[in-house]
Amino acid sequence: MTLRLVDTRTGAAEPFVPLREGEVGIYSCGPTVYGPAHVGNFRSFLFADLLVRHLRFRGFTVRWVMNITDVDDKIIARAAAEGVPIGELTERYAAAFLEDARRLRMTMPDVLPRATHHIPEMVELIELLIGRGHAYRADDGSIYFRIASWPRYGTLVHIDPSQLRVGERVSADEYAKDDARDFALWKVARPGEPSWGTSLGPGRPGWHIECSAMSMRYLGPTFDLHTGGVDLVFPHHEDEIAQSEAATGKPFVRTWLHCAHLRMGGVKMAKSVGNIDCPADVYERGFSPRALRYALLAVHYRSPLEFSDESLHAATAAVERLAIVLKTLGAYRHEGPDDPTLTALLDEARADFTASLDHDLNVAAALGAVFELVRELNRRLEARCLSAADAARAATFLRGLDAVLAVAEEDAERLPPELEGLLERRVAARAARDWTESDRLRQELANAGVTVEDARDGQRWRFVEGGPRD
Ligand SMILES: [Zn+2]
Repeated sequence: MTLRLVDTRTGAAEPFVPLREGEVGIYSCGPTVYGPAHVGNFRSFLFADLLVRHLRFRGFTVRWVMNITDVDDKIIARAAAEGVPIGELTERYAAAFLEDARRLRMTMPDVLPRATHHIPEMVELIELLIGRGHAYRADDGSIYFRIASWPRYGTLVHIDPSQLRVGERVSADEYAKDDARDFALWKVARPGEPSWGTSLGPGRPGWHIECSAMSMRYLGPTFDLHTGGVDLVFPHHEDEIAQSEAATGKPFVRTWLHCAHLRMGGVKMAKSVGNIDCPADVYERGFSPRALRYALLAVHYRSPLEFSDESLHAATAAVERLAIVLKTLGAYRHEGPDDPTLTALLDEARADFTASLDHDLNVAAALGAVFELVRELNRRLEARCLSAADAARAATFLRGLDAVLAVAEEDAERLPPELEGLLERRVAARAARDWTESDRLRQELANAGVTVEDARDGQRWRFVEGGPRD
């Protein structure tokens, strides 16, 4: 079974073949840190998380880069309105983003580059573009990309460049460019705005060049996958393609993946519309981070998601069903013969789950496979036709699938990996009848806030008061 992904350029589900066998490079447009990220932003980030998790589940080595935009027009305007330096504003909201991401169990990207730490790479790209005749300095000193020099402009958004409407980010800057469609690569320093002294003269980068510079810095001139929300297709990603390919002469991204809007009350959620809901608002209404994660993941990424308290209630019920079956499996003590049908059941569930996600991340079908398995396991638990070993095996299996979804249990019900490792070593020590080592490991776990008891069918652990609970 091959993984197929729908490239925005072709609209077709194409077999995914990475540039280097077994390795995948992914770049995701991350947050612009001038306020808290809303659940619509997180839908796009969690879709990329699901993609990364599924690729890893399928055995690929993934390098995931997500930028943090920490200088742009909106940040400058907000910092000025609050009367704080932009660094103070962006630190505050970058930290808030990382905390929200952690609670939503978003995989931490391998690299989280910040725009302001990559000014030299942006300058280098702009110099290449000037040298190749794709960029020019306007009378006011700012530097623009000349769209007329790039006939392939418009291939991502499927429009004829001569028909282009001037985008919001383009028109946001009233500079003296040659052509209304041209976009700023370097904005000349203005009073009251942050600027960097570079070989291009004092100024700051345009938003689009930031992503080209950071993605190619960490993934090379050509890389496998680029993700973002559908509102970034134009002009942001179209501009990224033009300036990257014009500078390097190489194809930029092999597959573009775009996540559809999240809507609330039938309207796209956006700061500019004012109908935003942030993770903290959702938790305040009593919903858990994993229910929110489920609600944001459960709809296919290319379909619009209608977000509401009803969808959160449904998500809560779904994650509870998973938590309950895991608890029941964990507590199951029936000593009977092994269920001869269990292997086939688990194999089928794994095959369905994998095939569904392989089909352009069809998460609804993958969840269908998980809940079909849950139904079957509940039936067997009630009929008591599993052995205790079967139950333990089924629980491990479900947790294996949940490595992709990360919705099944509270973090507080899981041990951090290093403590999990100590428990495993203790199992090995006891199997080898090395009681000294076993006692030493019990003490080490106790020091970390975890109490271990030995039962007939293995060790049980629980956190002591003040242990490493979240
Ligand atoms: Zn970007």
